[in-house]
Amino acid sequence: MSEKTIPYKIYLEESEMPKAWYNVRADMKNKPAPLLDPKTHQPMTEKDLAPVFCDELIRQELDDKTAYIEIPEEIRNFYKMYRPSPLVRAYCLEEKLQTPAKIYYKFEGNNTSGSHKLNSAIAQAYYAKQQGLTGVTTETGAGQWGTALSMACSYFGLDCKVYMVKCSYEQKPFRREVMRTYGASVTPSPSLETEVGKKILAQFPGTTGSLGCAISEAVEKASATEGYRYVLGSVLNQVMLHQSVIGLETKIAMDKYDIKPDVIIGCAGGGSNLGGLISPFVGEMLRGENDYKIIAVEPASCPSLTRGKYAYDYCDTGMVCPLSKMYTLGSGYIPAPNHAGGLRYHGMNSTLSQLYEDGYMSAVSLPQTDVFEAAETFARVEGILPAPESSHAIKVAIDEAMKCKETGEEKTILFGLTGTGYFDMYAYEKFHNGVMENYVPTEEEIQKALAKLPQID
Ligand SMILES: *Cc1c(COP(=O)(O)O)cnc(C)c1O
Repeated sequence: MSEKTIPYKIYLEESEMPKAWYNVRADMKNKPAPLLDPKTHQPMTEKDLAPVFCDELIRQELDDKTAYIEIPEEIRNFYKMYRPSPLVRAYCLEEKLQTPAKIYYKFEGNNTSGSHKLNSAIAQAYYAKQQGLTGVTTETGAGQWGTALSMACSYFGLDCKVYMVKCSYEQKPFRREVMRTYGASVTPSPSLETEVGKKILAQFPGTTGSLGCAISEAVEKASATEGYRYVLGSVLNQVMLHQSVIGLETKIAMDKYDIKPDVIIGCAGGGSNLGGLISPFVGEMLRGENDYKIIAVEPASCPSLTRGKYAYDYCDTGMVCPLSKMYTLGSGYIPAPNHAGGLRYHGMNSTLSQLYEDGYMSAVSLPQTDVFEAAETFARVEGILPAPESSHAIKVAIDEAMKCKETGEEKTILFGLTGTGYFDMYAYEKFHNGVMENYVPTEEEIQKALAKLPQID
């Protein structure tokens, strides 16, 4: 197809939207390692997980075999309110960079929650409602997941109790108010509401919190409340499964216009957007049908893939969640208050970790001032004001495009633009005032946290 016939924005028809999520684990020869019980170190069964998680979501979590899992009609109908999301050709950015590369981004910020998180929130709320539960608890870092879940819970009439990482709670009061608008209750974490919160506060007085702490609090609260379960917005395989809708739509749109990406880039916090975006493409790699260069981008302040260890670890600071084998910095690692709150998680999704271990993708880490510089370049030409998390992917997309400028290669670059940054203006302000700091942990700091990994034989 000739260049000019490719629109700025490719939208699918409703009828072309995926009817099933794709579970990349089905095509992996080396499956991700099973979740283990934190006490006995035995693989977790459906029954073991049932007190904390929703039944259907547990089945999805443990299912390594079913390649396609139908998206229930109620969820598809909700998706239609803000999906398909556009696949945008970044003509203006290409022009600005004077690169021969073709740059595309899949934009997930076109909904009130402002990120891709709604794709999984609505699915999780749906299954909780189906099971007859009355409410769910969760953690939120930057606030995008809490917002998405609040929206999904209000849609299905469920209570929503959110533990928000304290530094984000303080930096982003308006995020909190959006959640409350949708009926959620929001508590800064660590809090004195839970036993684990009290313990963490005693151990690390004055801590600004972390996703790991907030998870422990939310799990404790769900276990202690009748008719409640805990839901998680990233890291788990069920979340990555729901997020495959991003990659599937992208693949359908690209196939429609005969576009094949050479490089696929995504930011990686717990791995759900990156995993979702790359799933159908990695599926082709796993089946030997195609090849792509895949790059995960993480902040230098929380470099789980680039500087962590592939080992079993706790998913939370309080060590109440199952153990997951993943690239991790240690569950006791509390990252510096990086502004990309959504990327401040010590570990990584187990499926992505296995794919990384097996060489299906590479990873880079970036200092945050470089990220904000890229964010600004992007905003000025493409119009969208990107989330700091998403801007990690933008920076690497720009770097790849600049390499093409040197070599003259006309590569096709695809990246995930996971959300908008309207609630991150405090961070943008620091950047503009030249007072943003680039915190990079020392090797000693990382080794100290890694020394506390559980011993699994
Ligand atoms: C949460 C979030 C991320 C990181 O989470 P993943 O699970 O790694 O995708 C990235 N971008 C935005 C906008 C987010 O809200």
